[in-house]
Amino acid sequence: MNLSALPPVEIGDTAGTVRLHRRKLDLVRQVVATHGTHASRRVLLVEFVTADGVRGWGECGAPDDSGYTGETADAAATFLEGIAPGVIAGRRSLTAASVRALVAAIDPDAASRHPMAVAALETAVLDAQLRTTDTAFESLLGSPPKRAALAGATLGNQGPDVSTAAAVDAVIAKALEAVALGYPRLKLKIGPGLHTTDIVRELRAVLDGGVVLLGDANGAYRPDDVAHVASLGELGLDFVEQPFPAHDTTSHQALVATGTIRVALDEGVNGATDALDALVNHECTDITLKPARFGFIACVDVLNRAAEHGAGAWIGGMFDTGVARWANVRLAAHPAVTLASDIGSSARYWATDLTEPVVADAGLVTVPGMRSPGLSGVPLDA
Ligand SMILES: [Mg+2]
Repeated sequence: MNLSALPPVEIGDTAGTVRLHRRKLDLVRQVVATHGTHASRRVLLVEFVTADGVRGWGECGAPDDSGYTGETADAAATFLEGIAPGVIAGRRSLTAASVRALVAAIDPDAASRHPMAVAALETAVLDAQLRTTDTAFESLLGSPPKRAALAGATLGNQGPDVSTAAAVDAVIAKALEAVALGYPRLKLKIGPGLHTTDIVRELRAVLDGGVVLLGDANGAYRPDDVAHVASLGELGLDFVEQPFPAHDTTSHQALVATGTIRVALDEGVNGATDALDALVNHECTDITLKPARFGFIACVDVLNRAAEHGAGAWIGGMFDTGVARWANVRLAAHPAVTLASDIGSSARYWATDLTEPVVADAGLVTVPGMRSPGLSGVPLDA
């Protein structure tokens, strides 16, 4: 069986089929975002209840503020409240694979304005389909899935003092802490004014050569910076994520052409297929897939085709609770996910996760679904 062959779920009480939940979680470290510093996150969860009472879960990755791609958790909740009744109205059954078309029939712009809301609804339906048929997500991945996912530590934003030399020491300290915990890949925020050259040089001086360094620039560099970003590769930065703004195809191609650093796009692609197209177009060398934005069905489809392009791939995360984090671990079991993903222990983020915590041990997260039906993590208080 593959994902598209999963039987549809039966719809019962229309009013109670799609339920939205908001949960507030305390962060273990404050996060600096576009609109200030956050000590907690208010996450949006989508629950899909079938006629038989089977419950599927999807987590909306949209953050509290609009700094990432403009979509916020509040706006996603309002959108889903409005559109969910229309998606299921008059229908006796539903598949995850049909959710996007049904949403688009009501609101043609939904996928571009609310990609994370649509993905969360699709994931909740997919999770319900899998649970209804006692199917573990990994069993549909085609080639034999891996038993563990390669974890990666995201060091996060550096705080309000990024312009000071002390910020360099703070990043080095966080990096050493993550390496001591066994993480084989570190992701740091890079960009103009963030002492990136000093940080990369110093990290390479103190780290084992096997530790992979990835810099996420969130599109902060300008066309004049191509040579500078290439030089970071020569200093030992292995990967750069979204170095230039989303529309700047020329600079991304110029950077890839230098051959000094591997390049992946995040904000610059609007869907999993876009990510593959960017690879073919030489705008990147590797693929990062964010199921929170693209949905799991599209991610699996692209992973099934990624190997023939010789590209590496990893799973990108948001500030995920265990509901999405477990699902990402299970997607990272796909054999084409060859690089460490944005998957760390729940304890790096949350004082208390909503689900059984994800635990990275010596850089690996054991895939839970080898033995359990479904895709998403289930909230413990659900
Ligand atoms: Mg990114």
